[in-house]
Amino acid sequence: MSHNLSLRSLLSGSTLPPSEARLLMSHVLEKQYQLPRSALLSRDEMVLSPEAISQWQELQSKRLAGEPIAYLIGKRGFHDIELYVAPGVLIPRPETELLVEIGLQEIARLHEPVKVLDLGTGSGAIALAIANAAPHVLVSATDQSSEALDIAKTNAQLLNLEIRVKLLQGSWYEALSDDLRFDIILSNPPYISALDPHLSKGDLRFEPQSALTDHASGLTCLEAIIDGAKDHLSPNGLIAVEHGFDQSDEVVNLLKTAGLSDIQTYLDLAGHRRVASGRNSGAQ
Ligand code: GLN
Repeated sequence: MSHNLSLRSLLSGSTLPPSEARLLMSHVLEKQYQLPRSALLSRDEMVLSPEAISQWQELQSKRLAGEPIAYLIGKRGFHDIELYVAPGVLIPRPETELLVEIGLQEIARLHEPVKVLDLGTGSGAIALAIANAAPHVLVSATDQSSEALDIAKTNAQLLNLEIRVKLLQGSWYEALSDDLRFDIILSNPPYISALDPHLSKGDLRFEPQSALTDHASGLTCLEAIIDGAKDHLSPNGLIAVEHGFDQSDEVVNLLKTAGLSDIQTYLDLAGHRRVASGRNSGAQ
């Protein structure tokens, strides 16, 4: 009887896709036995304890009901770091690493100390990935949600980056003091239109709606961020924002209207224009 409760038979009996079952099982092994992921193979005859089995069954049924893997295991890799994630924040997406790369390229051209602003930081993904990869930059990161800021703070502590990443509560620029200017502003704001059917599908059902949609056309947060950029960028400072796959033309227009120059667009891995940037090169 007990062989039915072995790690191997639990995994092979699961109706989840095998890669997902392995991710959830390695989480159980880590929590219950402090075992590394390699135990999935090296200890596959192991008979799990009743606690481990009930944790496995709970995770499995939550996943079958659609809960995102990242929330179930409480973490997600992003750029060069691992982030703690929970339902109060958007799960960091691979396409957002594009913003980190654009920020890091700009940092490499500038003299220290470079000041970076991440608007709507959520889990802290962009701010912390930048601070982790660029040891001398000073990052300010804002979010309206205190729940998100608590998660971002936990991540800053786990990554030992609290000293260089300042977390501030408020809507976009409202969290900042007026005279502060930044060399680089980055943001992945909520840009999904309220009417987009994706909001009620897949992982998105479980994520905070306020991190996904502006409850309007999808462009209102992007507009507020771009409109305020000139007042918060240093001379020649760069702003780069992530947007929806079909919003490039509108976002380029917003950048032009806000008086930014040297406007560029960037493709994500799927070949969609996903990020746009502009510079504060004109007179104020
Ligand atoms: N890229 C995310 C998605 O389409 C949306 C993130 C956002 O609104 N900033 O699922």
